[in-house]
Amino acid sequence: KENSTRENNVAKIKVVVRKRPLNKKELAKKEDDVVTVTDNAYLTVHEPKLKVDLTAYVDKHEFCFDAVLDEQVTNDEVYRATVEPIIPTIFERTKATCFAYGQTGSGKTYTMQPLPLRAAEDLVRQLHQPVYRSQKYKLWLSYFEIYGGKLYDLLSDRRKLCMREDGRQQVCIVGLQEFEVFDVQIVKEFIEKGSASRSTGSTGANEESSRSHAILQLVVKKHNEVKEGRRNTNNDGNEARNGKVVGKISFIDLAGSERGADTTDNDRQTRIEGAEINKSLLALKECIRALDNDQIHIPFRGSKLTEVLRDSFVGNSKTVMISCISPGAGSCEHTLNTLRYADRVK
Ligand code: ADP
Ligand code: MG
Repeated sequence: KENSTRENNVAKIKVVVRKRPLNKKELAKKEDDVVTVTDNAYLTVHEPKLKVDLTAYVDKHEFCFDAVLDEQVTNDEVYRATVEPIIPTIFERTKATCFAYGQTGSGKTYTMQPLPLRAAEDLVRQLHQPVYRSQKYKLWLSYFEIYGGKLYDLLSDRRKLCMREDGRQQVCIVGLQEFEVFDVQIVKEFIEKGSASRSTGSTGANEESSRSHAILQLVVKKHNEVKEGRRNTNNDGNEARNGKVVGKISFIDLAGSERGADTTDNDRQTRIEGAEINKSLLALKECIRALDNDQIHIPFRGSKLTEVLRDSFVGNSKTVMISCISPGAGSCEHTLNTLRYADRVK
């Protein structure tokens, strides 16, 4: 993109589309694959339609993005195309966000889960460089969820959290547990523990997690040297809080984009959640657009999601949007909605 500011050759905003393969269910139904990746930046959607006289025809829609990844692309390649270039900038005060957007079942979690692992691996490697080691840099991990506009800590039994802003526009999530990352194995355990604790709602169905945004943050902090005769901890013994944030990256597995349309559902709770999701996805789009236009005013107050990410929308920020799409003809409408959303963000 021509008008995006480039620092270290890394675009400020990058929009990537990932197409997953047809799944068993779609194959069993002999659904057509309606998405053709024509190039590493272009794709075409062949929308099946009927004329008034019921003759079938195909409406073609062409899109262009920073990158289009087809069903052959591995998670490792996704990492290299999205997050890897950002990692070195984290040590240069960058606050980065990586979103997975798309309808339920399009591959958001599949895409998102391995990314923090790879990122932590690269960050830890950097931390072991003598310059960072001698200056007491540390890596911290937290994992929480926004469900129905409320925050829950996924690493401490879904404890309800609240958000505060300090005077310097820093977001503080009161009570959020942060854990030091020494190695990658620990990250794997945290992802598993946190993901198991994601919202399952009253029905207990896993489906419910599609109504929440899950946010995993990796934060690099600089810790002051231990002063003689004093321990380097707060009164509450929380060492993480004592460190000064250098940079961070947030991985956000967004609620299913189709859930934002649940605003006419019979169930009141579902309607409220649908409205909240709709609001947050719209606010997110507006914030990214404002960022891209270098606007001074970022409309982060539009939703809990954007408020929580407020400090990632100012200063040195990098945003990667991974839009996940299902290839089946039956998902065509949702796929087009996802691509149009991504197109507006770009
Ligand atoms: P979402 O989180 O968007 O609801 P999931 O990530 O759970 O979707 O993916 C739905 C199903 O499709 C899962 O069984 C997942 O393993 C599979 N899947 C998603 N993307 C891919 C892919 N690129 N390659 C292979 N399987 C995939
Ligand atoms: Mg999911």
